[in-house]
Amino acid sequence: MTKPSLILVVEDNEANQLLARAVLELEGYEVRIAASGPEVFDELRECVPDLILMDIQLPGQDGLTVTRVLKADPATSAIPVVALTAHAMTGDRQQALNAGCAGYISKPIDTRTFGFEVRQFVAAGNGDGTRVTAQ
Ligand code: MN
Repeated sequence: MTKPSLILVVEDNEANQLLARAVLELEGYEVRIAASGPEVFDELRECVPDLILMDIQLPGQDGLTVTRVLKADPATSAIPVVALTAHAMTGDRQQALNAGCAGYISKPIDTRTFGFEVRQFVAAGNGDGTRVTAQ
């Protein structure tokens, strides 16, 4: 049996934390949650996720800042980061890519597509040839 992929969900909103966890666990992923930048760095001392889902709007350090720190550190730079961006905030998307994100997923989370979108990014991060392009 292969080990389930581990997803680190960075999200400060409790309802979104619960929703993301529910969908991803149904998809068979192991899920850890961080609610702020410092919690992300705490988690990364204990685990190496296959993918990080990064809310952009966090209290304190925002998600883009946290992503830049992760991408600048050789210990964490290889972990794919996917931004969670609010629908209307199209400017956020380019900024997310500029910060080093592999792509983005729109919020609010659509439970019909979220699992599929995450699976594409996990597959791309595992180097199986699946290409994910930001739209
Ligand atoms: Mn938020």
